[in-house]
Amino acid sequence: MSATDYDSQKFHEGLVKAGLIVPVGVNGIFGRNAVFEDVLARFNDQVSALAKDDGAEYFVFPPTIDRAVLQKVDYMDNFPNLSGVVYSFFGKELTARQLSERIHSGEPWSEFMGMTDVTLNPAACYPVYPTFTGTVPKAGKLVTMLNWVFRHEPSPEPTRMQAFRVREFVRVGTPDQVVEWRDMWLKRGVALLESLDLPATPDVASDPFFGKGGKMLAASQREQKLKFEVLVPVISKEKPTAVCSFNYHESHFGDVFDIKTEDGATAQTACLGFGLERCVMALFQTHGFDPGNWPTSVRSKLWPNGTTGA
Ligand code: ZN
Repeated sequence: MSATDYDSQKFHEGLVKAGLIVPVGVNGIFGRNAVFEDVLARFNDQVSALAKDDGAEYFVFPPTIDRAVLQKVDYMDNFPNLSGVVYSFFGKELTARQLSERIHSGEPWSEFMGMTDVTLNPAACYPVYPTFTGTVPKAGKLVTMLNWVFRHEPSPEPTRMQAFRVREFVRVGTPDQVVEWRDMWLKRGVALLESLDLPATPDVASDPFFGKGGKMLAASQREQKLKFEVLVPVISKEKPTAVCSFNYHESHFGDVFDIKTEDGATAQTACLGFGLERCVMALFQTHGFDPGNWPTSVRSKLWPNGTTGA
């Protein structure tokens, strides 16, 4: 029994009414309660279990990233509208008083602020590429992370968040190593979602590149099948939501960060990420707002020791 018959507004209201998410006044930003977090942690554990013999190194990076990285990977050229550059105050006391007056009189105050060296991180894998600089071992490298990411796209639609967590894997190595690994995970990802009774479909996808030139970039990305997504209906049956995405960057990051394979060639990279909040929301939409009433097969997979939810 689906929670709300795939209606975006009803789904949002249902999540709030069940206490699963806590609105804080800004679209796309909300708190999560213990039940939501329990489901999220257990879904993430399922992902870890699938990867347990792969030998991935685990890292956690903070939600902020060196602004230079964003500049190097052309993020500001391709997605300026989604960025979240961190600004702070660099002035002295007199300007601090002017700033304060402006704020308290309800007037604009951005002219008093200056750009810092950090931005909010828009992609879970970005922090790791600069650490690969040099020559990777013959078997390549595999890294996994659980990072908060930011996208400036405020929306009342609950699956379109400004801040969310991604369980990410990044593979670096030869083209064969990278593509084989990506294809293996595409099957794994679909199988995992299906094992939780979620109707998952893989599809070719593209990134929301900015502007007219961006449309051409997106078309070429699709044509070369560089991006795949796994989709599950959450707020619409006709337009299912991407809960997992797979990106093959070819030698893009290898060129930018000078990453080589043992034979001296530029290394290739691919990444995949589970949007953890979206996976959790897919479960709530598909099986209802109370995990206690979810199908036994789903409950026993997520809670093998029998305690369900809160
Ligand atoms: Zn990535």
